[in-house]
Amino acid sequence: MISVQGLYKSFGDLEVLKGIDLQIDKGKVVVIIGPSGSGKTTLLRCLNVLETPTKGIITIGDKTLDFSKKITKQEISAFRRLTGMVFQSYNLFPHMTALENVMEGPVTVKGETKEKARKKAEELLAKVGLADKVNLYPFQLSGGQQQRVGIARALAMEPEVMLFDEPTSALDPELVGEVLKVMKDLANEGMTMVVVTHEMRFAKEVADEVIFMDQGVIVERGSPEKIFTAPIHERTKQFLQLIQ
Ligand code: ADP
Repeated sequence: MISVQGLYKSFGDLEVLKGIDLQIDKGKVVVIIGPSGSGKTTLLRCLNVLETPTKGIITIGDKTLDFSKKITKQEISAFRRLTGMVFQSYNLFPHMTALENVMEGPVTVKGETKEKARKKAEELLAKVGLADKVNLYPFQLSGGQQQRVGIARALAMEPEVMLFDEPTSALDPELVGEVLKVMKDLANEGMTMVVVTHEMRFAKEVADEVIFMDQGVIVERGSPEKIFTAPIHERTKQFLQLIQ
């Protein structure tokens, strides 16, 4: 479902991704862990083309972008639709209700009728446990509820892959569980997911594979059991000691 070959990304003189190679099969949940500044968010944003890689090839589904070649805006927007992104800071439109937030993409980007988009948005908000909150504005919702709207909004575009960038980092501890539960349900339904998170319990319970990144490279990858109980590399061991 996802293939990344020789991905590099620099910001000015700072090389943040230094040759990432990655394959993810359909229906798999991959959790990316690693120290702050190791390039996890940048990798996720490259998959969504929110950042343009310096070079490398990314394939998602049946679409491929080769960043050493010229790529049109149309190609980028078509590619971006393959993935749904959930951000740490929710990024909801403050002047729109939960329902309107979820309807916005399908109506404006996909050209769906309002009627169809509304029906789908209601279903998705029910799915994330917010059937009774559809007409509330973001400021009337808790962080956990806002993030669940964020997930419903990403799902409304019917992406092939869901990307989560530290989706629970901004939440009060008691609200983390409700968001992780929605993510767990999605994983159980067979959604292909790439998740950057510090929630090691989620990684242990839900991930098919854990990737440890440090200083712009993938240091080690494997099953949660392998990474958490028998890491090979010293850098992985050190990181896990610090956080556990
Ligand atoms: P992580 O998600 O692992 O914490 P990031 O991908 O956010 O790491 O960041 C990796 C490095 O890239 C950091 O040194 C960060 O400061 C830098 N960086 C990220 N985004 C930008 C940007 N837009 N401009 C300049 N530097 C950036």
